[in-house]
Amino acid sequence: MRAIYWLRTDLRTLDNETLSECLKKNQEILFVFAETQSLKRAGKIRKEFVQDCFALFKSELEEKGFTVIKTELLFSDFISALFVSHPFDSLYFTQDYAWEERQEEIMVQKYCLEKEIAVHCFDQGTLISQRDLPFDLEHMPFVFTDFRKKIESQLKIKPLVADPFSSVQNKGLVRLNHYLWKTHAIQNYKETRNGLIKFDDSSKLSPWLNIGNISPRTIYYEIKKYEAEVCENESTYWVFFELLWRDYFKFFSLKFGRKIFLASGLSPGVSPNQKNLEKFHSWCEGKTPDPFINANMNELNLTGWMSNRGRQNVASYLIHDLGVDWTWGAGYFEEKLFDYDPDLNWGNWLYLCGRGSDPRARKFNTVKQAETYDPQGEYRRLWES
Ligand SMILES: Cc1cc2nc3c(=O)[nH]c(=O)nc-3n(C[C@H](O)[C@H](O)[C@H](O)COP(=O)(O)OP(=O)(O)OC[C@H]3O[C@@H](n4cnc5c(N)ncnc54)[C@H](O)[C@@H]3O)c2cc1C
Repeated sequence: MRAIYWLRTDLRTLDNETLSECLKKNQEILFVFAETQSLKRAGKIRKEFVQDCFALFKSELEEKGFTVIKTELLFSDFISALFVSHPFDSLYFTQDYAWEERQEEIMVQKYCLEKEIAVHCFDQGTLISQRDLPFDLEHMPFVFTDFRKKIESQLKIKPLVADPFSSVQNKGLVRLNHYLWKTHAIQNYKETRNGLIKFDDSSKLSPWLNIGNISPRTIYYEIKKYEAEVCENESTYWVFFELLWRDYFKFFSLKFGRKIFLASGLSPGVSPNQKNLEKFHSWCEGKTPDPFINANMNELNLTGWMSNRGRQNVASYLIHDLGVDWTWGAGYFEEKLFDYDPDLNWGNWLYLCGRGSDPRARKFNTVKQAETYDPQGEYRRLWES
């Protein structure tokens, strides 16, 4: 049997059902990493991050004797040429949740149907598998609190899928180990998570989660182990709580599809925000009248990173103070953030502008926020224009 493994946001060996099933059933596997529409829109820092993660995984697979190729084409555009050069009878891939990625899956599946290629698609990007949700997607609670309560009342989390090579220590695991066992920083997460400067103020697991270098279940079970062996408190629970926010936005995206990327969101008929390029550019370049906003935008532009507190403030400022179309801001984040994830990014923006699950817009008083979270102005000085 010859199989193609379409590498997507699942660049890991531990808890990768797609990989373990593919290895079990096939003697010959060709791994293919392809361009995506979203990567075409990425800036230098995000592109480099993804490329580095791919290169690392590629070398791990090559060490095990596999062939890994990369194409500059979208997988859906590449598949027919691939079928000619390397005829295959089965295709393995991990399901994504966002609309554009799903459209590509549909095209690929259509092609496979025509050519009688067996498709093996695995749902493993979330903490709770879709089939273990205590409701079907159609009846997913609209508001996060209701979603969380239902999930927690019937919590079902699949066990980890063993690493078929049982040797790999990937970067996400190193970070998790540091955050839990080496520094015990997780014990103070709830108090420090709004911090703007220190690396261990929050888990910094998002880049590894989003590229699939670590699975949410791996994080969950490691936290459970830490709680059993070292300490269980509100902070250790709160990382799990945030992983539920992650699942919420993923299923929300799966449910509402293209709508979460539209300016009107789930509220058709709302008046569009301004298309004011001058205001938008001042925001992008960190040249607004607000030094706290500018500092956050400077950090983003120079490093590809911004804290959650920063993201909330700059998004609120663009939407509610400058009155600019929120989709421009979300698109700018897509270009710049190296932990960019379509479901989390667009879901959070939509939530803040009040066109998502909660019609209340989230407006932050950015001057007060700076006083609370940067009382000495240290962060503003660090990233001042
Ligand atoms: C406007 C806006 C845009 C955002 N865009 C992205 C994005 O593109 N990619 C991304 O990963 N996160 C995004 N977030 C969510 C959040 O800011 C980041 O997940 C978090 O800052 C990552 O840092 P961390 O890993 O240290 O998180 P921690 O605070 O340590 O949290 C642990 C994990 O929980 C999840 N999580 C935390 N906060 C949220 C949240 N608000 N929504 C959903 N999941 C969450 C993440 O997977 C995170 O890695 C966005 C938030 C806002 C307000």
